Amino acid sequence: MQIATDDVSVDQKELNPWEAQAVRFDLAAKKLNLDTGIWKVLRQPAREIIVHFPVTMDDGSIEVFTGYRVQHNVARGPAKGGLRYAPDVSLDEVRALASWMTWKCAVVNIPFGGAKGGVICDPKKMSQTELERMTRRYTAEIIEFIGPEKDVPAPDMNTNEQTMAWIMDTYSMHMRQTVTSVVTGKPVNIGGSRGRTAATGHGIAVVCDEAIAHLGMKPAETTVIVQGFGNVGSNAAKQLHARGYKVVGIAEWDGGLYNAAGIDIAALAEHKAKTGSVRNFSGAEEAVSEELLMRECDVLVPAATENVITSQNAAGVKAKILLEGANGPTTPRADEILEKNGVFVIPDILANAGGVTTSYFEWVQDRMGYFWTEAEVNERLDRIMTESFREVLRYAKEHGVNNRIAAYMLAVDRVAYTTKQRGIYA
Ligand code: NAD
Repeated sequence: MQIATDDVSVDQKELNPWEAQAVRFDLAAKKLNLDTGIWKVLRQPAREIIVHFPVTMDDGSIEVFTGYRVQHNVARGPAKGGLRYAPDVSLDEVRALASWMTWKCAVVNIPFGGAKGGVICDPKKMSQTELERMTRRYTAEIIEFIGPEKDVPAPDMNTNEQTMAWIMDTYSMHMRQTVTSVVTGKPVNIGGSRGRTAATGHGIAVVCDEAIAHLGMKPAETTVIVQGFGNVGSNAAKQLHARGYKVVGIAEWDGGLYNAAGIDIAALAEHKAKTGSVRNFSGAEEAVSEELLMRECDVLVPAATENVITSQNAAGVKAKILLEGANGPTTPRADEILEKNGVFVIPDILANAGGVTTSYFEWVQDRMGYFWTEAEVNERLDRIMTESFREVLRYAKEHGVNNRIAAYMLAVDRVAYTTKQRGIYA
């Protein structure tokens, strides 16, 4: 089937994130010469939960919401993955995101499997009290499937530390004791980790430093354009700005900004916090968001959502480095074009793994009941991100594959090894 996006046709299959994940998994499995049985095990999610649940809205009416929780794999440890609220959440999207969590946790070698959750809703049209009731009821619906040793949710698009506090409280009420380690990304005063909110952006900056050093570039001479100014995009921009990079463009859903001399990111964050948008910011000229992705720059950071670099626009990417802050921003057909054009891709399952790595630290600290300083958290995060980047590059060189397939190979190899070691129970 063909669908029209901005007057060009893109194959529907190209835009299905689950298909996109499967294509890369198959390529990596083939390169690894993976045992057929293990291939079958890792190709499917282990468990998919669908719940339809009622919520009383502020006006007294009852609305029924659909929620998902997909646990892709638990061979290496409890399932781990975010919870997303959006009107276009689908089972295939959640499946893809769950499998990416399995691969991501394996790339950075932390003891978790992969999961993801989503609720179909329009959070921008809901009040805080409606969001709280929806979150609590969703938690209650999936309660026997989550827990510190089973599956540990975290924030994702349109969910935040407040959402995690509600989940933790609901779970704790049912367990009749406070269980902070059931979720990560909580507020720091109730078991959150220092550094968690900024961790994904921080990790992005660490691998960016590694990549430019590898390519013989310097931060002060490196221009950056970021798509998305939410948690990941704004923190990546802040970190890169602080390290001396010139962030020249920001693309948001309602408009973009460009300033060849560099944007003052702290001032922009303040402006967005005050007005709810990046628009009408005096420190940059207005720009069309879609065009910003195709503009001259050294590093392009898609940090908003899936399918922004497709077969239709990949040839127009002028950046030397594509640094994937979002999950699944690039389609497999776009991968081929980028590779042909020599774009250095830092794939999502490596680039944005700083978030889950610090989530792992949060889970560890909760279970110890002993909390680290921000400097301790960041020092451990830096070490893991740096080592993982180098490991992926080593795999790419050794096996003659691009960075994305190298990251998948590294991950699939690790999960396959553990699966074989544990054996098949039956
Ligand atoms: P968020 O909701 O905080 O921010 C997303 C931002 O992108 C928002 O500001 C939104 O307005 C903007 N946006 C949405 N669609 C857009 C479009 N078409 N064009 C331009 N801007 C658009 O979400 P987030 O937590 O920052 O997540 C962003 C991406 O990063 C997602 O793919 C998510 O899965 C991934 N991710 C998040 C984390 C994390 O720790 N939060 C970790 C790893 C990966």
